[in-house]
Amino acid sequence: MKRHPLENSLWFDTAAPTPETAPLVGARRADVAVIGAGYTGLSTALHLARAGVETVVIEAEQAGYGGSGRNAGHCAPTFLHHTPEEVIADLGPVFGPRMVRLQADAATLVFGLIRNYAIECEAAQNGIINPAHTPSAMETVEARHDQYAALGKAVELWDAAKTAEMTGSERYFGAWFHPEGGHLNPLGYARGLARAAMGEGATIHTASPVARIVPQGTDWRVETERGSVTASRVVIATNAYSGDFWPKLDTPFFRMTAFNVATAPLGDNRRGMILPGDQNCIDSRADTQYMKLDPAGRLVTGSVVNWSRGKDAARSFAHFDKRLAYLFPELGPVEWRWFWHGHIAMMPNMLPRLYELAPGVAAALGFSGRGVPTGTAMGVELAKWARGTDPGELALPLILLESLATRRILNFAAPTVLGPYYRWQDRRSMRRDGLEAPRI
Ligand SMILES: Cc1cc2nc3c(=O)[nH]c(=O)nc-3n(C[C@H](O)[C@H](O)[C@H](O)COP(=O)(O)OP(=O)(O)OC[C@H]3O[C@@H](n4cnc5c(N)ncnc54)[C@H](O)[C@@H]3O)c2cc1C
Repeated sequence: MKRHPLENSLWFDTAAPTPETAPLVGARRADVAVIGAGYTGLSTALHLARAGVETVVIEAEQAGYGGSGRNAGHCAPTFLHHTPEEVIADLGPVFGPRMVRLQADAATLVFGLIRNYAIECEAAQNGIINPAHTPSAMETVEARHDQYAALGKAVELWDAAKTAEMTGSERYFGAWFHPEGGHLNPLGYARGLARAAMGEGATIHTASPVARIVPQGTDWRVETERGSVTASRVVIATNAYSGDFWPKLDTPFFRMTAFNVATAPLGDNRRGMILPGDQNCIDSRADTQYMKLDPAGRLVTGSVVNWSRGKDAARSFAHFDKRLAYLFPELGPVEWRWFWHGHIAMMPNMLPRLYELAPGVAAALGFSGRGVPTGTAMGVELAKWARGTDPGELALPLILLESLATRRILNFAAPTVLGPYYRWQDRRSMRRDGLEAPRI
């Protein structure tokens, strides 16, 4: 029998079980209908239900089926490309500082929810290390350190020796460290959010793909093949997995496919060689080298898919053998066991957006690789919107759905040229600093 894509992941084999749910059958009413049971939809439902709002989540497959069950498990309270100052320049003086604050505090939100609801997801809030792969990249590292320090975060700036001690790799020129970041079992977190939302009174229907949303006076009827939910407010939280049940829902962003790989447990003699303090690490490369160990000592890392890697397990494992040999020459051969894929919704400026699709229908899209913290935090904003908060008070402006003109080109480019382009940039940045630039 063909395994579905989520089942190939390490998380599917190691996450705590999912709570019992049933498909949507028959017609019912609720205050709010939420479509999609990833972090965004589940956090929306949790925050609504605990405020006493009757909430029904409708999920096509199972909780965590999308990016939320397949990601690499890093909770980084930062932006993929922007510094806080760049976010403010991009979003302006009203929403910029709010978005910066929302993202900067999002890991505290995530790990706070995990603690409050006793979510079993291998959570480790030991801080996140952001190392520089070249001496020049230290400029960005220092700028980020200074700007997060100015936000009141107890960040640290590390030299090469401290970075080597904490990552296990001597290839870095320094790092900045954010103590509020951390890592987790992503599918376990999604399932735990589902359990928490249900505990607060939300209903979750799985195996129920939404086919359409039709107006019913001032309300909306969300229809699946076998049932419907009529609600005055609808939240769409389908992100990179958005289909065509709402026109042009998948057009504001381009879709990048990424893959993760994981090893068998490294064993007691070798697990201390990588990230001995159980932090996680996301480096400064364009083709970011990110890594973490799970509690059993399995190394989890990954990259973006392109023609030379990410399509075929054996070729991808061979690439990561080279990367590990470069970063951790003492480690020796590892046994790769897991290889899985997922889609990422990338906004052109890599910042998420909140949309009002019609009066009473909103969506948050485009977390650009930061969905663990950002999706959870956007759920809080969507819950506020669904409860009638003035949109001017939200962290982001509520805008009309727009289509990205270059989406088709970028959808084509993302799995073909983007990975090689990123790696070319990385090699160029190393050569500019007089370093050897391996093809990794
Ligand atoms: C390989 C990979 C690595 C990543 N690494 C990280 C990381 O380390 N850290 C980080 O912060 N982010 C990471 N991300 C991004 C992160 O996973 C996403 O941003 C996040 O999970 C998005 O959450 P979401 O709830 O908005 O959407 P999703 O989790 O994608 O959920 C959308 C849900 O909508 C459902 N759906 C779709 N259509 C319908 C329909 N018609 N009816 C009902 N339901 C529907 C889907 O089944 C799905 O469950 C990574 C992503 C990938 C793919």
